[in-house]
Amino acid sequence: MGTRQAIRAAARTPRRATSTGIIRHIDELGRIVIPIEIRKRFGLGEKDPLEISVKDETILLSKPQMACVFCGQKNALEEYRGRCVCRSCIGELAAQT
Ligand SMILES: [Zn+2]
Repeated sequence: MGTRQAIRAAARTPRRATSTGIIRHIDELGRIVIPIEIRKRFGLGEKDPLEISVKDETILLSKPQMACVFCGQKNALEEYRGRCVCRSCIGELAAQT
């Protein structure tokens, strides 16, 4: 997952075409449904995290880059208080106590 896969979620300029041509409306709680075709294509499942960022006038949704906060490793990750830590670093931390 080296390259950031971004979905152009909402282009607010009416004349500009969206990348999918699919228009969804924001509900009363500020939510939108990502079309199933896009979720399948990007391997997005229920409860998966999505990073929301803004570039110029475009809102971007992307898969967060998951890596250990200590060593940057991308495998064998566990989540602790909202941060990713690899099992190797967990082992090192546990050994220090
Ligand atoms: Zn680590």
